Amino acid sequence: MSWIKKIVSLPLYMQILLGMLAGVLIGVAALQVDGVLFVQHWIRPWGQVFVRLLQLIAIPLVFISLIKGVMGLKDISKFSRIGGKTIAIYLATTCVAVLLGLFLGLIVQPGKLVNHSRVAHIQENYLSVVEEKKQISKQEQDRGPLYFLNDIVPNNIVGAAADNSKMLQVIFFAVFFGIAALTLPKDKITPVIALFDGLNDIILRMVDYIVKFAPWGVAALMAGLVTDAGGDMSIFGALSVYALVVAAGMFFLLLGFYPLLVRLFTKMSIKKFIRAMYPVQLFAFTTSSSAATLPVTMEVVEKDLKVSQEVASFVLPVGVTINMDGTSCYQAISVLFIAQVLGIELALSQLLIIVLMTILSSIGTPGIPGGSYVVLTMVLTSVGIPAEGLALILGIDRPLDMLRTAVNVTGDATVAVIVDRK
Ligand code: ASP
Repeated sequence: MSWIKKIVSLPLYMQILLGMLAGVLIGVAALQVDGVLFVQHWIRPWGQVFVRLLQLIAIPLVFISLIKGVMGLKDISKFSRIGGKTIAIYLATTCVAVLLGLFLGLIVQPGKLVNHSRVAHIQENYLSVVEEKKQISKQEQDRGPLYFLNDIVPNNIVGAAADNSKMLQVIFFAVFFGIAALTLPKDKITPVIALFDGLNDIILRMVDYIVKFAPWGVAALMAGLVTDAGGDMSIFGALSVYALVVAAGMFFLLLGFYPLLVRLFTKMSIKKFIRAMYPVQLFAFTTSSSAATLPVTMEVVEKDLKVSQEVASFVLPVGVTINMDGTSCYQAISVLFIAQVLGIELALSQLLIIVLMTILSSIGTPGIPGGSYVVLTMVLTSVGIPAEGLALILGIDRPLDMLRTAVNVTGDATVAVIVDRK
């Protein structure tokens, strides 16, 4: 059994990749020996358990980290001068990143590259969802343009929290709660802040455990998908194009968007910025964690980019929590990709919800490797796409995670430079 030990001691991303390969092999083998039913009954359920665990933790994770994030702003009320500006710029850059993701996903349509006639099996499984989406598109034409506000403002928080597709309403409540708390005297809310700090740590530990289960979950989901697809491998071609689209988005942000912002809003030379950021990006790339990269980002931004300590010590930690441009762009592309593979058409209002959900939920994404898996299940469910679709992309996620983390930290540093120069 020493090989099991060896596998378990591999880094998690390698385990997930091996899980994906093992799942494909199991699926192909099952097709050869008439074992499809075995896979459906005995293997796939483990994948579904993995997805359910991710969904289970999504609402508590986002709810608690959002409230903690908003209430945390109180400590920095002395920075109110730069606080509002920082948050506004963060939201604006995230918005651009999501729109870029949507643009790329809609133009290239990587998910349409699967052989739809041969993966009809997959689509059959999701037929009811496809039908439902068509209905929604139709109904939408009869509704007014502001109907989507009903999807944001809940009339019952318990009801909203009990329905995974009502995430936006939970987010609304959390932000509202956090802002109301901010307006009260500090001594009144100190115990609440401590409570949410502790809860946040516990939830993050739970996420950690669930992500450890990912290699097994991905193997089971992949085996199920391969048997569904009846041996059609066009999905892998589509997957490569999807990865290229995500990479293109990331490079656009890194080499085009951020240098442009630096150029437009500061007097710093682009060359200096890119050169200084290089070690930070490398560190983020290798660790896949913007939280772990924070000390390096701080050091470089203060020492090499000469941002004042006052600004850096506020803008960067806040950025690690609420600003994830790479993650947001990737999520938009991924949601579209999964919908395209499953043959689900998304109505305009659903695209709008994706934009809103991605922007808001990136605030709740922890800056750890694979931090966005949980949040992605949530964005998927909020527009009614089956969260199992996640299995399609997790196997090749690590390199994309590395890239988006590099983008995330560069975004934070860019905003720090801009706020400082202002
Ligand atoms: N790994 C990313 C980060 O730490 C989060 C994610 O997109 O999964 O910034």
